[in-house]
Amino acid sequence: MNAHPDLTGRTALVTGASRGIGYFIAKHMAAAGAQVIAVARTVGGLEELDDEIKAEHARSGKGEATLVPLDLTDMPGIDRLGSAIHERWGKLDILVANAGVLGVIGPLAHIEAKVFEKVMAVNVTGVWRLIRSVDPLLRNSDAGRAIIMSSGAAHNARAYWGPYAASKAAVEALARSWADETKNTPLRVNSVNPGATRTAMRAQAMPGENPATLPHPSEIAANIVPLASPSLTETGLIFDARERTFLSYQMPR
Ligand code: NDP
Repeated sequence: MNAHPDLTGRTALVTGASRGIGYFIAKHMAAAGAQVIAVARTVGGLEELDDEIKAEHARSGKGEATLVPLDLTDMPGIDRLGSAIHERWGKLDILVANAGVLGVIGPLAHIEAKVFEKVMAVNVTGVWRLIRSVDPLLRNSDAGRAIIMSSGAAHNARAYWGPYAASKAAVEALARSWADETKNTPLRVNSVNPGATRTAMRAQAMPGENPATLPHPSEIAANIVPLASPSLTETGLIFDARERTFLSYQMPR
């Protein structure tokens, strides 16, 4: 896998780009030459990203950003985003479905219905709707790449993480199905386990942990960007971002 892919001229949609891992994936992809469509709800975070990308562009002439303030539980909004990308570019080269929420850590019997439903809405239904909205655009690319953010929680049993773990197992299943549907096309679809990373979500999950012991999201994001490379061949796998290796959890059919 190419460690530093050239993404010049490629269009990349990155969700959850206002902070954390998604912010740095967007920043690194722009630095690699991509036109980044940055999605999140927090306009301030998106504007900060835009400032950084503009500063890099002034230095190197590479990379640009289009900011899209959007709540990914707004399903018609996701459909409109796909239509807008179609009108402007006619295709999409890279999808990074990174936005996610943790919900509440607690015993399953005590989780409020609205918390469970919100986790599923952002982490699963929103990703499916995005897949539905941009699948034709990624197929219009000569080398479409989809990166779906999962978590070790999808596979490792952990008390009190039920809704989040279920959502990540579900989104990985979506990614695997999509990879199988598209395996005879140029589109490559992989899930990513970023591993414990120094972000707001991790601090919410583990308030007693010293963040300084965790990798910075910029470092993890830099390991994920090569999954967008036009030369990537793998599909339907899980990428361990810390170890920079592909894993497969396929069972015998
Ligand atoms: P953060 O909480 O730091 O960032 C989450 C991002 O998702 C923000 O940009 C946020 O933007 C966006 N987001 C959340 N809800 C919505 C929504 N309804 N609509 C649009 N955007 C939304 O999380 P991380 O960077 O830590 O996590 C990124 C991904 O990595 C997630 O999918 C997470 O599950 C996964 N992950 C993270 C790990 C870690 O240790 N950090 C470990 C394993 C997996 P805004 O609030 O502005 O809308």
